[in-house]
Amino acid sequence: MPSTMKAMRIHELGGPFQLDEVPVPAPGPNDALIKLKATGAGLTPVLMRRTPGLVDSYPRIMGHEIAGEVMEVGSEVENVAPGDLVTCHFYLVCHVCNFCRSGRETLCPDFKGYVGLVLDGGFAEYTVIPSLNLCKIPDGVSPLDACLAADAICTPYHNCTAEAQIKPGETVAIVGAGGGVAIHAVQMAQLCGGTVIGIDVSQKKLEMVADLGAIATIDPMKTDSVEEIMSLTEGRGVDHYIDYVSTKETLEAGMACLGRGGKLVIVGARAPGAFGGISPNFMVDPNKMLRMGQEIHGSRYCSMLELRQSLELVRRGQIKPIVTETFPLEETETAFQKLQNNEITGRAAVVFD
Ligand SMILES: [Zn+2]
Repeated sequence: MPSTMKAMRIHELGGPFQLDEVPVPAPGPNDALIKLKATGAGLTPVLMRRTPGLVDSYPRIMGHEIAGEVMEVGSEVENVAPGDLVTCHFYLVCHVCNFCRSGRETLCPDFKGYVGLVLDGGFAEYTVIPSLNLCKIPDGVSPLDACLAADAICTPYHNCTAEAQIKPGETVAIVGAGGGVAIHAVQMAQLCGGTVIGIDVSQKKLEMVADLGAIATIDPMKTDSVEEIMSLTEGRGVDHYIDYVSTKETLEAGMACLGRGGKLVIVGARAPGAFGGISPNFMVDPNKMLRMGQEIHGSRYCSMLELRQSLELVRRGQIKPIVTETFPLEETETAFQKLQNNEITGRAAVVFD
């Protein structure tokens, strides 16, 4: 084991990644030391590094969608061993409260923060992660595919199965459909039996959404998405509207095209101030909601079980992980810039030798 490693660290709120040579971290009694093989890069960390209050101290190594090999474990660790290939649950939770015990750990009242924000993550050659956050990668799943399962695939698993509860025959609008998480929702919604209408503002992204089976794609910069959806559903509206963008405009469009018994699932919401200071607060007509029996769901990440099931879907080939660009560790900042400029379809990832 070398004594130092390369790490891409941010040194201030919203700051760029800098290549630093730092000591290889030592695992505590409940931790595992992991040698990284792949770390996903998506819009979530891009937004989070600019959001005050999430990173607790600097410098910080971000990166939560990790896949790597366990090199060493602490004295109390029983669930993983050196040589295991693992990925990681994003949320640091208490593991014992009623929410944690009932598979709703993302609602844990003792939430400690996020991997890669309150402790160092995967944009480095090695990282140390609490072992209870780790999940073994099944045989036959590559590290690159596995790292995507840790957010880009398990998040839509939760959105589609636990929140929307999509059933065969239902229609699902997916907003921001060509993004890293939503592109897997396009697949997941169909796996649940739904028919997908994909909404995005990039022609290139919409082409991939159509290739993945969406029956229709809409560019809201070119056509009115609500009119288009009402026409596609012969006036009934959609059964589910899963919003990976969640601005005031996209959310109000969702309420306008939601059908009877329809569910609006909010996934991509960001704190006011995090994104150009624009508030995502939106208007809801409670009488219409009541009359139409509609539901609004806030959907946070996923459970450990849902992460494991996501890996299993990848292993069986039922979900295809979409990585369109990979970068060496030193080019992490380039990946983030391209994500921020909306230039990447699906996911980007940093890959290691
Ligand atoms: Zn808890």
